[in-house]
Amino acid sequence: MKVTRKDFLFAGTIASLVPSVSAAGAQGFTARKGALGKYVGDLPPGRYDSHTHVYPGDPDPAKIDASFKAAGLAGGVVVSRCPNSWQVPGAKVLPPAEAMDNVIAWCDGLPTVYPFYWIDPAAPDACDLVDMAVEKGIYGFKVIRGDRRPVDGTTLPVYRKIASVGKPVTFHTGILWDGRDSSDSFRPANWEGLLEVPHLRFCLAHVSWPWCDECIAVYGKLLNAIVRRGFNVPEMFIDVTPGTPKLYRRDALTRLFTVGYDVADHVMFGTDCRVNRYNVAWCTDWQRTDDAIYSEVGLDAAALDGIYRTALRRYLFGGDNKSRKVPTPDGRDGNPLSGKKS
Ligand SMILES: [Zn+2]
Repeated sequence: MKVTRKDFLFAGTIASLVPSVSAAGAQGFTARKGALGKYVGDLPPGRYDSHTHVYPGDPDPAKIDASFKAAGLAGGVVVSRCPNSWQVPGAKVLPPAEAMDNVIAWCDGLPTVYPFYWIDPAAPDACDLVDMAVEKGIYGFKVIRGDRRPVDGTTLPVYRKIASVGKPVTFHTGILWDGRDSSDSFRPANWEGLLEVPHLRFCLAHVSWPWCDECIAVYGKLLNAIVRRGFNVPEMFIDVTPGTPKLYRRDALTRLFTVGYDVADHVMFGTDCRVNRYNVAWCTDWQRTDDAIYSEVGLDAAALDGIYRTALRRYLFGGDNKSRKVPTPDGRDGNPLSGKKS
């Protein structure tokens, strides 16, 4: 069997797990620590915010630690400062190396808080920036290309580069309050082009509100691609970061979890809060709202652990694609291995 670079990286992660290091406050949890002293391969039990941002201000990891604890969270993902001046008018854009160091400093000493680098995939040196980020210990990437289609000949090589280093990438999808004519570029179908990036783990944020149905449809299509392309496909995740006004929330989450697609470990909780002044009340309110909907939908404890923890674990560290249920037009499981088991 040909071992891809992704298989290699994944195997490396698993093989290096050592069942001897205990996480503070997480009894029985064992995993090794990787770059920057973060846990790799597994996440301690608890809830995680997979989508937070750094805004201008001095790095203050103690603040993140206190806010997350107050919101009932065990950790999460923090995205670096925006690389584009159009996004935050008037704010100083940090050079890439500084932006990476800045987000790493915000997460310093917190083994369950993972720094992501917000990359401009159209920057001429974007592939080099991926290498720089990995060298510095960055755990993933974020992209908002703006009023341009996200996937084209300019950006594909960058996504392939991200796939080759085994890191995930989160895209803003859905309407963006940027004061510009940009919405058409954020419709989820624009991400079908990532079919040309095997093994890329990518996330469409905000369930693409108001195009939640389109987001779910693209998810199904990407999963079905296994029928035609084998397991050499990208792996799509969704984050349920609002986005969705409360009026639409029940509908969006209910559809996502009852459509019949294999969404286990592929839907993540997030808030979009800035860590400079994390909105604890907003975060706990969304957890309450979502938990009530999940309870109505009939999700069990394992499914909730998926949304709040194990989907992020898989997103960060990878997982086995070969046992997933693959949707087909006539309702069969299209996974080429599924018939061989019975
Ligand atoms: Zn965001």
